[in-house]
Amino acid sequence: MTITPDQEPAATQLSVLEPDVLPYDDTALCPICSQRVDDIGTPAVPVEFLADPAAVDGDQAPVYAYVCGRHRGRDVVLPLPMALAPDVAVGLSARVEGETRPVAVPEPEVHR
Ligand SMILES: [Zn+2]
Repeated sequence: MTITPDQEPAATQLSVLEPDVLPYDDTALCPICSQRVDDIGTPAVPVEFLADPAAVDGDQAPVYAYVCGRHRGRDVVLPLPMALAPDVAVGLSARVEGETRPVAVPEPEVHR
């Protein structure tokens, strides 16, 4: 059997979207399925999302984000608003849905 790169399984798609955050209690909703997202992690997103890709090492940057796991074959990453990010996070300018907004990156990952 010959295995060529073309036959590798398709990578999981990544969508980076703006979460819908309710103003009165900071509840965050997935903009696709409108379900509440509670899981906060630091999923890696390609540095192409950052306005300054050189701000972090490597080709991926961890960002504090909600992750919606309800979408088969697609990781839906919803970066936290800076106001909800941990104190140790640094805001880096990023492009999300065509808008420039800060995303929270763990401070040790960021070049000063
Ligand atoms: Zn969802």
